[in-house]
Order: sequence, then structure tokens, then C-alpha cells
Amino acid sequence: MIAEIIFTGTELLLGQILNTNAQFLQQELSALGVDLYYQVTVGDNLGRCTSAIKQASGRADLVIIGGGLGPTEDDISREALAEALGVELVEHPDALAVVRRFFDLRGIPVSQNNLKQALVPRGGKVLDNPIGTAPGIILEKEGKIYILVPGPPSEFIKMVRERVIPYLREKLGGSTGVIKSRVLKFCGIGEALLDERLSDLLKSNNPTLAPTAKFFEVNLRITAKARDDAEADEMIVAMEEKVRDRLGSFIFGVDDETLPGVVNRLLRETGKTIATMEDFTGGRLASSLSSADGADKTFIIGLVIKDLYRLHEKVNLGWAGELPGGISERAEHLAAALRKRYNCDIGVSVTAERDSSSDIPATNYKFYYAADFNGNKMSKEVLLWGEGENLAQRAAVYALVLLWRYLKHGIPF
Ligand code: AMP
Ligand code: MG
Repeated sequence: MIAEIIFTGTELLLGQILNTNAQFLQQELSALGVDLYYQVTVGDNLGRCTSAIKQASGRADLVIIGGGLGPTEDDISREALAEALGVELVEHPDALAVVRRFFDLRGIPVSQNNLKQALVPRGGKVLDNPIGTAPGIILEKEGKIYILVPGPPSEFIKMVRERVIPYLREKLGGSTGVIKSRVLKFCGIGEALLDERLSDLLKSNNPTLAPTAKFFEVNLRITAKARDDAEADEMIVAMEEKVRDRLGSFIFGVDDETLPGVVNRLLRETGKTIATMEDFTGGRLASSLSSADGADKTFIIGLVIKDLYRLHEKVNLGWAGELPGGISERAEHLAAALRKRYNCDIGVSVTAERDSSSDIPATNYKFYYAADFNGNKMSKEVLLWGEGENLAQRAAVYALVLLWRYLKHGIPF
């Protein structure tokens, strides 16, 4: 079965709200084995919404329309469906019951506007909405299925889960199989190199491989379409093995695992404790390490500083002693002093300075990462670019990458 989703709402096109219903519905459809080829977002405009429905019905068996079922003038999904299919809108007793119940329960009279929500394109079936005024609608016509679902996320999710999915499952009668995914998470390798090393596998149709990159992580989603769960798992495992054969040493986790979570697990497994000191990254490294599962066993303290020079002038970290002149020596010195001061296994420091040699100095920084692992000192200088929050986050993630590589593979900073 091929589906198309149409999301309505001018606010979605203006970027005023995020289309959270999309991800939810996409995941539900893919778990059912329904193919989604197109997803359209259209504003609250009768003509454009009608033509979106007509276009969808030309290329899909199932058209799901989200939003636009409210009582106001700009809610036009019912009208658009009726118009696209050339049927009239009629009051439906089940729909009227849904609307009335909402008001009766609250002891207030039904407003005239809300009566519009009792209208259904002729031939449509009504889906109950126990938490709102807008009933959903299913209409089957000329071999195609049209489903209208109200837009407020709580109503949307509840109706899809409790009404739409069971309806589709019955329609499909187990004929479509399942679509399953597994995400392999890489760090220490760029998307381009990963692409190159897996270029033949990336052409596979089933399972498919889809890489995405963020900061210093690359995620590779393996998606298999199969008759049942077991067959899908088998296909995924076989593909995963091929990927691991080539790039296994860069994989730090799968699915919901996160880099701070994995670093923390490695610390826990080896019984190590850690303290951090961050200039520039605003505590983001400490925040991610200290909020990981089991961090109470591993994370000792995180110091956040803003300007190392000034700090040393004004506050003088007694325990840090005299700071050496060079910035990378200083970073190592601080990591070691930190480890001693807080009596832990690992001290890590992140410091940065603007790179004056660059053409765009405002966005280029030299970062100095240093660590002292039980007396084993190391440091690394990296040029990172970006701005504000984004750069700070990238810089903090890079520290996690270095930590992971050392803890997992013994690769020094
Ligand atoms: P509507 O279905 O147009 O009556 O939408 C009611 C409210 O639900 C809107 O004001 C939006 O804030 C919210 N909404 C509608 N569609 C979506 C969507 N796709 N994702 C998230 N929120 C939505
Ligand atoms: Mg709307």
C-alpha cells in the first residue's frame, strides 16, 4: 500500500510550529509496512488543499490529511476532501455526538461554529475523538482510502494509535509485512569517508542504508523491508556485519545509545572517575557527562570558566600553581592539576583561543583538549569553526570523541 500524507496549516509553512505529527505518523506507517512516497504540507487554503488531495489520490492508495478539522473559518480539510472527491458534506449523527459530548461534559452549550465539525463528506465513517471536538473521518472511494485526523498533537496521536492504525492493520490483513530499522552510530570518521568506504553497500535496495551527520557523529540507518520481524532482523544483522567488518572500530553505539552515555559506560566498566574544566564550551561537556546514566559513579566535578587569563589574574587557582606560557602546555598542566585537586583518575580540560591567522577570525577558534589519565598526559590542538551555541556544542562533542577513542581503543588525544 502506498500512502501520502497531507499536513495542513499555514503556521507549519511559516515555521511557527514544528510538524511533530509528521515523525510520529511516518514511524507508525513504516512499522505497518506502508510505503510513504510523498508528504505534502499545505496552508489553510481551500483551493490548494483540494488540489493537494487530488494530486495525492493520483499517486497513492491511502491519503491521510492531518489538521484543519477545527471549528473556525480557516479549517477547511472537510470541505477540501468533499470538493476533491465531488461529494457533498452532510451532517453525520456520530460526528454530532462527538461534538455534543464535548460540550455536554463541560456543561456548556454547543457553539454554532462547532456544528461545522459534525459535517462529513457523504459516505464517510466517523472516528471518535474522546479528548477533543473534532471527529476524524475515513472515506473509501474508488479503491482509495482517505483519512482525516485532527491536528492538535495529543488528539492526532491518540486517534492514529487507537483508530487509524487498527483500521489499516485490518485492511492490510498482514499482507504488507514490516519495515524495521537499526541505527549504527559512528564517531571519528567523516560522512564523506564513510560514504566512500561503504559506497557499494549504500546502493542496496533492501535493506537500505542512509547516513546522516551531526557534529562529529555519523549515524547510519539500516532499514529492512520483510515479511515479518524475524526476517527483517536477519537482513539487518547481515548488513550490520558487513558494515562492521569495514568500519567497526568507528562504531560507538546503536539506536538510542549516545556518545556521553557510552563514554560514561566505559568509565564505569573500568571503575574510572573524571573531572572536567571548560573554557568556551560553557559546561556542555560536564552537562552531558554528568547527566548520563550512572554518572554518580564516574563524574566528580565540572568547572566552567570563561576567560582563563582573567581567571588566573583575579582568582588564582591556588591548586593550579604557576601556569606555563604556551597554551597547549597550559591545557595539559590544568588537566593534571585538576586530576590531583579532585583526586580522580582522569582530568580533562578544554580551552580555546581565537585563530588570528584565519581569513574569518570571528568564526575560527583553536581548541586545546588535554587530559591526564592517571598520570598519562596528552593534548591535542584542533581548529573548529562555527558560531555561538553551535560551535560550543561541537567543541564539547569533540572532547567526548577524544575520550571515547582513548577509553575504547587507547588512541591518545
Ligand atoms: P488544526 O488541526 O488546524 O485545528 O490544528 C490545531 C492546532 O494543532 C494548531 O494550532 C497547531 O498548533 C497544532 N497542529 C496542527 N497540525 C500540527 C502538526 N502537524 N504538528 C504539530 N502541531 C500541529
Ligand atoms: Mg489549522
